[in-house]
Amino acid sequence: MRVLHAAAECFPWVKTGGLADVLAALPQAQARAGLDVRLVLPGLPGILGALRSRERIADLGAVMGAARVTLWLGSLADHGPRAYVIEAPLYYDREGNPYAGPDGREWPDNLQRFALLGWVAAHLAVGEIDPQWCPDILHAHDWHAALACTYVATHPVRRVRTVFTIHNLAYQGLFDAADFPLLGLPARHLATAGLEFHGQMSMMKAGLVYADHITTVSPRYAREIATPEFGCGLEGLIQARQAVVSGILNGVDEQLWDPANDPLLPARYSAGDLRGKAQCKASLQQALGLSIEPRAPLLGIVSRLTAQKGLDLVLEALPAWLQAGVQLAVLGSGNPELEAAFTEAARNHPDQVHVRLGYDEALAHALIAGSDALLVPSRFEPCGLTQLYGLRYGTIPVVRRVGGLADTVIDASGQDPARPATGFCFEQASPQALGAAVDRAISCYRSPKAWRALMQAAMASSFSWDASAHDYRDLYTRLRDA
Ligand code: ADP
Repeated sequence: MRVLHAAAECFPWVKTGGLADVLAALPQAQARAGLDVRLVLPGLPGILGALRSRERIADLGAVMGAARVTLWLGSLADHGPRAYVIEAPLYYDREGNPYAGPDGREWPDNLQRFALLGWVAAHLAVGEIDPQWCPDILHAHDWHAALACTYVATHPVRRVRTVFTIHNLAYQGLFDAADFPLLGLPARHLATAGLEFHGQMSMMKAGLVYADHITTVSPRYAREIATPEFGCGLEGLIQARQAVVSGILNGVDEQLWDPANDPLLPARYSAGDLRGKAQCKASLQQALGLSIEPRAPLLGIVSRLTAQKGLDLVLEALPAWLQAGVQLAVLGSGNPELEAAFTEAARNHPDQVHVRLGYDEALAHALIAGSDALLVPSRFEPCGLTQLYGLRYGTIPVVRRVGGLADTVIDASGQDPARPATGFCFEQASPQALGAAVDRAISCYRSPKAWRALMQAAMASSFSWDASAHDYRDLYTRLRDA
């Protein structure tokens, strides 16, 4: 089974969110499961610079308005799968993240930039660029790579099957419909049954309409996006395609996120010996300038600061927690109002609240290890990775019962002895509901035996990529043999 993954991010070279973690870990797990896996990625500076032992596969000339497009094949990591990297200096040799410049503004030519990714992925997949290696499955991730499914579906030679994974339906890749001719597709595809979406052109639809199969990154999110509450206006289309929509849960990179072997922690620990966790907490409190109180419940947040993540609820609930002696450590960046509000809270309560704006991989590990509980109050959450890290680090997740959060955290009120509790869940996206869940967590924390049992159950939960890789293989096999 040969699989080609097409995506815009791959950790640690280019990352804005969980998508990058998935593209780093899933292909490796699939390779361990015996699949022949390759990636195709845009030649952003971080990716092109990391590519080793590379060979030139093709000079593609001018494609999608980029004058000089070269395709390389090489290795990004010592033991990782090989990657095709598209060198197109006009589109990809830029500072910033894959979607926006250093000033945060999206690149005006994003349509062409990601159409190029989709075009190259599709032509690789049908065997036109590298006939030595033709995949059985082209697996495209998020709107950035979605056009690959459209180009394959509209190609006369079509043996490869396509899978489109939605990592987040809220980011849809909407563009001016007047630019449709840039894509080089027959005009009939700019229709409601094609790419058109309320007068615009939707790259998300390029995957949803044309892929042979659609997956989400948790089973519950697959059901949720068929409803108006979570469907972002695409619920009708998702319902129509329901027979080919399914959810496969993301996993954790168990080597990178392992409290017993994490070089980014001041002390290491395991479920059997939790002493190191207390040291991690003390070091974190010291590093962040919080008062060093072993018995003060320390709540952690590592997140993009956006409306999706429900962090406004945290700000509303915070005054009551501060009165109860709780501490809060936040690492994140995003929405300027949220950044300002958290910064203000930290300024007013430096002993109890610390906020670090920005992206910091080392602090993310230290914060997740050193906190007692991890807050993930998302309004919607396709899968969520931080609650999985929290579980592994015995940092009890307090989560809203949506999407992947609901699929991975077992609430402490549960009575099923076969499924021991691993965290605290709440229903409504309100400060009261979040506050009530945190109150439950704090009262459990005050009884060390119960808290320890919770930590140990959390640390025993397993979300390995190997299980997900197995599920994807079953799906690919069904599609290939259909
Ligand atoms: P999303 O993809 O919606 O941002 P996920 O929970 O799926 O949310 O993945 C977020 C990933 O990004 C996790 O690996 C998390 O640790 C990481 N992350 C988020 N914000 C930061 C930050 N400020 N610094 C370091 N890592 C971060």
